[in-house]
Amino acid sequence: MATQNSTTFAWRGIAVSPGIQIAKLYIHDPAQTTIPSHFIRRAEIEPEKRRLVEAIELARHNLVELREKVRQTLDEAHASIFDPQLMLLEDPLLIERTHLRIDSQQNAAMAFMSVIQQFADEFASVSTDSYIADRKVDILDVGRRVGHLLSRGLPALRPLQFEDDVIVLTMDLSPSDTAQMDHRHVKGFATELGGPTSHSAILAKALEIPAIVGLGHVMQLAAQGQQAIIDGYEGLLTINPSPRELARVRRSRGRHLERERELQKLRNLPAETLDGYRIELGANIELPIEIPHVAAHGAEGIGLFRTEFQYLERNGLPTEEDLLAVYRRVVEAIAPAPVIFRTIDLGGDKFIYDLQPQREMNPFMGLRAIRMCLAHPAVFRTQLRALLRASAHGNARIMFPMISSVREVLEAKAILEDVRRELRAEGKPFDEKIPVGIMIEIPSAALCADALAREVDFFSIGTNDLIQYTLAVDRGNEQVASLYDPFHPAILRLIRMTIEAAQREGIWVGLCGEMATSKLSVTLLVGMGINELSMGPLAIPEIKRHIRELRLSDARRITEEVYALRSMTDIGDYVRQAERALQRPRRKTPIIGNS
Ligand code: PEP
Ligand code: MG
Repeated sequence: MATQNSTTFAWRGIAVSPGIQIAKLYIHDPAQTTIPSHFIRRAEIEPEKRRLVEAIELARHNLVELREKVRQTLDEAHASIFDPQLMLLEDPLLIERTHLRIDSQQNAAMAFMSVIQQFADEFASVSTDSYIADRKVDILDVGRRVGHLLSRGLPALRPLQFEDDVIVLTMDLSPSDTAQMDHRHVKGFATELGGPTSHSAILAKALEIPAIVGLGHVMQLAAQGQQAIIDGYEGLLTINPSPRELARVRRSRGRHLERERELQKLRNLPAETLDGYRIELGANIELPIEIPHVAAHGAEGIGLFRTEFQYLERNGLPTEEDLLAVYRRVVEAIAPAPVIFRTIDLGGDKFIYDLQPQREMNPFMGLRAIRMCLAHPAVFRTQLRALLRASAHGNARIMFPMISSVREVLEAKAILEDVRRELRAEGKPFDEKIPVGIMIEIPSAALCADALAREVDFFSIGTNDLIQYTLAVDRGNEQVASLYDPFHPAILRLIRMTIEAAQREGIWVGLCGEMATSKLSVTLLVGMGINELSMGPLAIPEIKRHIRELRLSDARRITEEVYALRSMTDIGDYVRQAERALQRPRRKTPIIGNS
């Protein structure tokens, strides 16, 4: 591009770590290392196998050191990001498969890289989920490390060092790249690939470095050393900004910082309306490394711990002890606050080969979540044993997903009861009073909420699926995204029915879908009498502020008026107008200590 060095261009990706920075671009291409591949003589087979074992051991040693460095700079939770890579390096199958290739006279580097690619492909083929794609990066990173060590004569992989501040632009970043970089000068990460759950995204957030992933083909348009702005709030990378653009961004950065400072003051205050109605705010997380974000953003507990990922990030099923270690770490870290563990919601768009060797035609309507667990009772029992045992170490709750009938609840509870008897007989302690709840995310469950409420201790409304199943709109299909509307009267009626049924039966009712992150929806949910809202930690401060500026009496009135409206546009417009008309007084934020 002739104008590449003078024209401003902006590229949008997925914002994964907030913040705005202005610095020079550093374009990093780790794939540039070529690993020498050739065939060897028969006499070289055994020495080559020994070199392989030595290289794997050295790579393991280097990763252990890196893990320790992250543990010291951040904490144990973030250091554990490297555990799956260490597990991979200890997997006997890795050496076995590579040896087979060396036996057919491939050199160790060539053999190892092919096996790693095979592992990565097998892993990615189990699902199209972005989480899986992100784990593939970790596997390929292991290949790059060992491949490098096997390539005699290549300089050792060195962490990137910089003299000046830079924004690193690269195709993809492995967690080891992210952790090893010189953090004094790296002011931002921007990658062409990657999703919001990538380990690099999580590390960037923990290191408080703005980051954007999934930018697409931007590297071909950028040049080394160009000035750039990374906007980790908007997910925008601007290259060669004009003086006007720079001034605008500096002002915007000032406003964001001011807002964050204000929101931070609310961290330890309750989400309570001006007239004293208290809502619990919980965090949705999926990995133990996210634990520090829960309290940091002012959540009072974990309203949804998605448990699928311990099944997705390995070959084969996890054991009871594997699961117990994770669950125990989470409840201990969050205690005395509660953690709602949702039993596995596999199927749908999260497949694992061991449970579903064959693809279904319509997986969201198929053997998903509780249906999968009831079809594989041994797998379900293993998870329930681990959850019950973890409950002895903190405040755990169990929640069954995708319930469509009372019969399913009774079946799941019968298995849970049997597992309890088994643990009692073995003398293994657990919380005898552990609350058991269900997700309301299928219209039939909302319609039968009164009968279901008599069988469980709590509900959590899963609007992500409730909207998809009620409106027959695939939640992941962009072509019908405009039909996916939480303000559809049918959705509001189902939510209201669920809350009223829960209130009549005297059980607690929360909501853990994305709808909890929209201020307009929250006004209606407060008006309907919801007890709890659970969401990604980053969304919590804004929602807390919104609730603290709301009056329950106003929210109730708006909600009543909305029931009379017929279309989603009318409802959205009405709530917006009603909120503006309230002209709420800004509540003074008390200055509190830095606890
Ligand atoms: C939901 O369906 O709203 C929900 C919270 O669960 P998930 O997004 O995991 O399906
Ligand atoms: Mg769901």
